[in-house]
Amino acid sequence: MLDTAEAKQRILSAVDDLPSESVPLEMANGRTLRQTVLAERDQPPFDRVTMDGIALSYDHYETLVRSFPIQGTQMAGDPPLTLENGKCIEIMTGAVLPEGSDLIIPVEQVTVANAAAHVQANYQVERRQFVHARGSDHRQGAELLEVGTRIRPAHVAILASAGLDTVEVASRPLVTIVSTGNELVPAGQPIEAQQIRLSNGPALMAMLLEHGYYRCRHEHLPDDKETLKARIGQHLDESDVLVLSGGVSKGKADYVPEVLAELGVTVEFHRIRQRPGKPMWFGTGSRGQAVFALPGNPVSTLVCCRQYVIPALEKMSGASPSPQAFANLTEDVSFAPQLTCFLPVRIVTSAAGQSLAMPAPTNTSGDFAALGRTDGYVELALEQDLFPTGTTVPLTLW
Ligand code: AMP
Ligand code: MG
Repeated sequence: MLDTAEAKQRILSAVDDLPSESVPLEMANGRTLRQTVLAERDQPPFDRVTMDGIALSYDHYETLVRSFPIQGTQMAGDPPLTLENGKCIEIMTGAVLPEGSDLIIPVEQVTVANAAAHVQANYQVERRQFVHARGSDHRQGAELLEVGTRIRPAHVAILASAGLDTVEVASRPLVTIVSTGNELVPAGQPIEAQQIRLSNGPALMAMLLEHGYYRCRHEHLPDDKETLKARIGQHLDESDVLVLSGGVSKGKADYVPEVLAELGVTVEFHRIRQRPGKPMWFGTGSRGQAVFALPGNPVSTLVCCRQYVIPALEKMSGASPSPQAFANLTEDVSFAPQLTCFLPVRIVTSAAGQSLAMPAPTNTSGDFAALGRTDGYVELALEQDLFPTGTTVPLTLW
């Protein structure tokens, strides 16, 4: 049996990189960048005025003159005027600093009468005040975004500023989710006393969507070997990733590992030294498809998806790994079974700004209603049995 770190490592090294594709800028949010983005021009691209007011000459102002005939008006987007001797130019925020001018006086300090601007006698100035100098943020050609960036709205602004109307990103994998189990009945359909609501399929879909993997679909299959083989075989042909839930333990109807083997999926491992989710199975198809078979207990399914499937999809997309988060336990926890424990927690922030993890233990790995009060889970190391209050532990948010 593998421990959790080995299992993750095996998965990450088994999965293939997805191809790149080009998408319109408006569709780039949430995708993983596959190109380097360089500055199209200096930023700002010209000496940019940052106040509405007047533009004039600093040296002229220092001669104590306080009235300046208005030569003209320059708006944002206008080509720069050239300042004439002794005059001023009305100027707007975002305009280019006029040629020959090196001083901006804000409109609040100015009164206009008889086609001239008048400034109060004691208004103190600095040369080039309210001028955002050309190239002071970055130079043309500077690297603004690197390969692997997960594109968020601020990155979209940067992409647009670099003049890119299409962006190279990782293509989206087609992920097929399969729920197995004769006892499962989807919401909306009549249910009998001996049956169970099918919840893993919708939950797995939701988790994939939440992490930006929109190309996913779900099918419910019975515990019937021939049906499983036919349907999983077809999904394997069509998909990049398969996420199966249920049927991987040691029960008589747990056909999934057997069916996957018959379909030519190479097993990378079966079982991880962890709770919940010990029976998890992982393998690869002949085209390199990643096949995750998660135990059906709802808490196990969600933890295994968040812990292994999502990082695998991120690796396939080439996303730069997010830094590990940590939190401090708010109470003593003991866990002795020589397994890594993924303990669901609620996160609160202390007055000192620390993340505190309040354990929300589930009764069993089937008690998923308890998850409604959680934000994620912490990882309690296998080698340790006692985790006193205040212990700092790795945290994963759902
Ligand atoms: P299995 O891994 O197939 O042995 O299932 C373990 C437990 O999880 C059983 O009690 C199942 O009824 C339950 N279970 C399996 N799949 C689902 C599902 N999709 N939604 C809700 N419960 C499930
Ligand atoms: Mg089952």
